Amino acid sequence: MSLNIPETSKRRLVVIGAGFAGLRLVEKLKGSNFQIVLIDRNNFHQFQPLFYQVAVAGLEPSSIAFPLRRMFQKSYQIFIRLTEVTHISTESKTVHTLNGALSYDVLVVATGAATNFFGMDQLAARSFGMKTVGEALGIRNTILKNYEMALVADSDEERNALMKIVIVGGGPTGVELSGALADMRRFVLPKDYPDLDFRQMQIFLIEASPTLLNGMSEQSSCKAAEFLTNMGVNVMTNEQVTGYENNIVQLKDGKTLNSATVIWAAGVTGAPPGGFNEHQLGRGRRLVVDAFNRVKGESDVYAIGDIAFMDDPDMPRGHPQVAQVALQQAKNLAANLKRKELSDWKPFKYKDKGSMATIGRNKAVVDLPFLKFQGMFAWFVWMFVHLISIIGVRNKLFIFINWVWNYVTYDQSLRLIIRQRVPKKD
Ligand SMILES: Cc1cc2nc3c(=O)[nH]c(=O)nc-3n(C[C@H](O)[C@H](O)[C@H](O)COP(=O)(O)OP(=O)(O)OC[C@H]3O[C@@H](n4cnc5c(N)ncnc54)[C@H](O)[C@@H]3O)c2cc1C
Repeated sequence: MSLNIPETSKRRLVVIGAGFAGLRLVEKLKGSNFQIVLIDRNNFHQFQPLFYQVAVAGLEPSSIAFPLRRMFQKSYQIFIRLTEVTHISTESKTVHTLNGALSYDVLVVATGAATNFFGMDQLAARSFGMKTVGEALGIRNTILKNYEMALVADSDEERNALMKIVIVGGGPTGVELSGALADMRRFVLPKDYPDLDFRQMQIFLIEASPTLLNGMSEQSSCKAAEFLTNMGVNVMTNEQVTGYENNIVQLKDGKTLNSATVIWAAGVTGAPPGGFNEHQLGRGRRLVVDAFNRVKGESDVYAIGDIAFMDDPDMPRGHPQVAQVALQQAKNLAANLKRKELSDWKPFKYKDKGSMATIGRNKAVVDLPFLKFQGMFAWFVWMFVHLISIIGVRNKLFIFINWVWNYVTYDQSLRLIIRQRVPKKD
């Protein structure tokens, strides 16, 4: 098999990953002197900040994913290939994929991050991650299916496990998901399942450190914990999940929880394609890059976004793995790649625009560089920022309509359990 990319006199730029970083880079280099090949294992870009809304049946997956081919319909120098990159040979300047190999002049690795189960295979096999739209859809199907099963459960113990949800990791993903589930328990599910006792729907949020939302201000972290507790979420800090078997969640202090659904949002790790040396990997298995995003020890290989660990004394833990870093690094690298002289290249400088998290209806926390606020106004700011960030006018419109509908009716209309049927192959 071959990727069938035509040979031209132009230099070939191969970009691996069409997330925030890879996509922004290609957009910025559209019409440049490169032949661009964009490779992703999916044929769409995913807007990860809204995965949790797919998981709670608030949004359709198609509202937060955008087909790559649509974005570059009229760009004849951009070639999109749907495949997985397995490894890279930097000596021969070749990218190896499941569908064949391809040579490059310049390579940009923008493969993001993968869920980190910290080596606990048992948890990796039995709990849900939140790194793909497929996983978010899996959570939605499982939660809805569990409530159907709870109706016909033989014992209270079984019903309890089916209705209890354990979320591991008190970062933005865990906080947003547990808040959205609490809203679902309050406003939506009791109407659908009047014969279930929703006091049994317990939501546990388990965080290993002493506080939630560790990347945010103390004020926001405390407020988020207060909001969640008032919404009936069992927030457990200084606690760790160590195992999960037969619906029993094992905690470090010896306690157990009986739950059929565990969602793992406790961390990410870099998952670069094979071919890089251990000395090129930094903290969190991210590729070590210099201030120009050039991978350590390479001359024509760059890494941007979550996968990049920039050697910067001001940021010993690396830049935060958030969309703004990915977008800004992509913009800076694209501008540098357009410059003729290496001496004109500009180093990357991160401009922190702030961070935010939503907790539930009328509740969010916002940290801006000059101002921190929480509550209803923060919630509107959160919605506005996410709406303008999502790609595509259609997606913006659909999400806006969905949000207004959900707000006015106190309902979410997407509670379908969709099973795939895949025909058997010989
Ligand atoms: C649930 C969740 C919520 C989040 N919420 C926020 C938020 O509110 N605000 C914020 O700023 N950030 C948020 N983030 C973080 C943000 O989404 C990431 O920082 C951002 O997506 C990083 O962009 P990226 O381009 O580096 O990687 P990604 O967006 O992850 O893109 C990587 C791409 O590479 C592709 N890929 C990976 N490996 C291969 C391979 N071997 N071959 C082919 N293709 C490959 C993947 O399919 C993917 O399309 C959230 C993340 C998650 C998971």
